[in-house]
Amino acid sequence: MRTINLILIHCSATPEGRAVSMEEIRRWHIEERGFRDIGYHFVIEIDGRVRTGRPLDQVGAHCVGRNRDSIGICYVGGMDAENKTPKDTRTPEQKASLFRLLGVIGSRFPLAHVRGHRDVAPGRACPSYDVKTDMAGPEWQHWYPRQAAVAPKEPVPAAVSQGLLGESLVKLLSTAPPGTVIKGGQGEGAWLVLEAPSQDPPHGQGTVWATVGLDLAVTMHQRAEGAKA
Ligand SMILES: [Zn+2]
Repeated sequence: MRTINLILIHCSATPEGRAVSMEEIRRWHIEERGFRDIGYHFVIEIDGRVRTGRPLDQVGAHCVGRNRDSIGICYVGGMDAENKTPKDTRTPEQKASLFRLLGVIGSRFPLAHVRGHRDVAPGRACPSYDVKTDMAGPEWQHWYPRQAAVAPKEPVPAAVSQGLLGESLVKLLSTAPPGTVIKGGQGEGAWLVLEAPSQDPPHGQGTVWATVGLDLAVTMHQRAEGAKA
């Protein structure tokens, strides 16, 4: 895995309420901007679904000069409904997913700074809110148990709460098929569930691809077609 010093939050700069999918952003990046793949590593859609974009171990294309040592997370939205003014349009579901994802990623890269795009690229509005202020709030404390003042509502593996998450999750996130949905675990000892995209993206039923147990044991259920070993 490459060295990660920075976790950068972006918005898609699309109007409030418009359900842009990871696949759509990917198409823009490839067809209109000439990228070889989507520039972001994760996209948080307006219903809160976390989708994988570019594999985590690959350098992204989301911030000139800082791609090599960073991870790019994009939430869908960031403009008002008229598409005129930058606005924090994150839905409650997107906020919860963002904090959760940051908890997972931040646990593996505890020395990485979490910043908004505009914090490292002055003059930009992206991601349309102040990341530092946001992360001082109670929601972040809930989802990032390493610094939590209150007990998290869901079981969090000790290795995560202590910031000891190993390479297994990073490997998993680097090899998951693009568009994989990262969900919170639902019973049966699962902490994270990864669902590979269905045949009818973006909103069809996915196939469970892997689960991460409370002990961080990774179980691969089905290797999606075309996925790298
Ligand atoms: Zn940005």
